[in-house]
Amino acid sequence: MKLNSNLCYCGSTKPYTACCAPYVEGNAPAPTAEALMRSRYTAYTLLREDYLLPTWHTSTRPVSLGLAADVATKWIGLEVKRHEQQDADHAIVEFVARYKVNGRAHRLHEVSRFVREEGRWFYVDGEIS
Ligand SMILES: [Zn+2]
Repeated sequence: MKLNSNLCYCGSTKPYTACCAPYVEGNAPAPTAEALMRSRYTAYTLLREDYLLPTWHTSTRPVSLGLAADVATKWIGLEVKRHEQQDADHAIVEFVARYKVNGRAHRLHEVSRFVREEGRWFYVDGEIS
């Protein structure tokens, strides 16, 4: 196993076990909107719809993401540009995620809104720029 393979998928340069794993694998509540956003990116790379749906706010949550069928998309990098705490329970995170579809590179630049309810952060929605 390469050393790199232990690093977290979200690009934090921390080991996966010390970064997103406690949230994605252990159901621990992400302490900040940025931590949740990073863990959700990681969940996309791992096709973990079972993590993505419950961390999506019920008001905007889709029924399904169809990730298992989407084998063409490969996530290749995340850069968090901005994490802005608006009040105790609302935050926005701006990020650029890079991915490839059938070998062709794309980038997703999004400003996402997050809300915290009963101690847990949820993804609400995002504006793609
Ligand atoms: Zn991570």
